[in-house]
Formats: sequence, C-alpha cells, structure tokens
Amino acid sequence: MVTAVDAVGTSEARRAGLVSLYNAVSSCTDCPLAETRTQVVFGSGNADAELLFVGEAPGFHEDQQGIPFVGAAGKLLERLLGDIGLSRENVFIGNVLKCRPPGNRDPQADEIEACQSHLFRQIELIQPRIVVTLGNFATKLLSGNPAGITSVHGTEQNVQLGSSQVLLYPIYHPAAALYTRAMLGVLEEDFARLPQLLGREPAPGAREAVPSAAVATPAATEYEAQLGLF
Ligand code: URA
Repeated sequence: MVTAVDAVGTSEARRAGLVSLYNAVSSCTDCPLAETRTQVVFGSGNADAELLFVGEAPGFHEDQQGIPFVGAAGKLLERLLGDIGLSRENVFIGNVLKCRPPGNRDPQADEIEACQSHLFRQIELIQPRIVVTLGNFATKLLSGNPAGITSVHGTEQNVQLGSSQVLLYPIYHPAAALYTRAMLGVLEEDFARLPQLLGREPAPGAREAVPSAAVATPAATEYEAQLGLF
C-alpha cells in the first residue's frame, strides 16, 4: 500500500507531497500492470496549477518516456492549451491509470480500483480549482456517475473530491477527436470555455491562486527535473 507524507497548503508543501507520492508510486505493484509497464507515468506539470487534466492511461510513448500525453493526442492537447494562452507548464496533467495497459487496451475495473487512490491523493495535494476529465474513464470515475462523455461533455459541476471542492469539467478525449472531425470541433468549443470557467469566483474553501512569478522555481529533485514539475 502506497503512503506519502501529509502535506497540503503551501507551494513548497505541494511539491514535497508530490515528490513523496511519486517516490512511493514509482515502485507500485498494486495491480498486474506493474509486470508489463516500462515505468510508472506519474503525471507532470505545475504543482500549483489551478487546472488539472485527467486522461485515461499512458500509451506506448508515455510508457517509454515516463511523461503523460507525449504522443499524437498530447500534441493536440498542447495545441488546444496554446489556443487559450496556456502551456503544459501552467497546468498539471495526469491519468486514471499510472501504467500502460498492454496494447493500449481499455483500463479494467480492478486496475482503476487499485490505482485511483494515487489520483485522489494528487488532487488533494494540488488542490486544483478545475479538474478537466478527458473522455469516459476519467469522467465516470471522478463524477461518480455512469453517464457517458457524449451526454455530459461541456457541462461543469461542483464536486467534492476527497477534501477538495472542485469544478469538474468533462470534455472529449483528444485521441478520440484526432479521428473524428466533428468531435474535434466540439472539443475546441468546450476547451474555449476554460478561460471563462477560470475567471469565475472560486468555490468557498478553494485555495488561493499562486502568482505565476512564484511558480517558476528551479527544478530541485530528480523527479522535478525529469518530469517537469514546475
Ligand atoms: N492518452 C491518455 O489518456 N493518457 C496519456 O497519457 C496519453 C494518451
């Protein structure tokens, strides 16, 4: 069972908590994917991010490089972020599963069950204001609702995730939009609402935003350097 130091609140505490969690999760053997993965793909980005993106599971390239969304879907995600004036450095990107399912098959229920505590702990540490779920698996897990992405995309809702009150915002998975032109248009429209959602009053109890000058701390640990923890 993975444990990590209790750390919430300050920027430094968030980084320390994520590094501690990374150290614990990187040797996780809680499900059979530990036997077939090249490495754990913990997640990467800004520890102080107000926006957390949650995908499905690492694919081939992510498994090789240890970084989420570095393949074709990742390039689209980066382009969509650029369209609203953001980059990977401004957000945190993770997945429901931290290890690649063989052949990129769908995550299985027992794998999600075994892995979900890592994601919930990441949310608790980062305390994002908005959690953007990419596709069905992340949306169903974090909304606690079996409704599919086709019916809920683009509709935000306040949810309590562990100790964090967040705005959950489901959108199509970029990989799906790569192959269906109509879906890409919908994804672009949903994405374009993010600045407006970020401009809303934070929910009561949400943490203070960290000024951007304060987040450009130099990478200090192997994890921070390797995975781009800003
Ligand atoms: N698709 C995902 O859901 N996650 C990744 O990290 C890459 C592709």
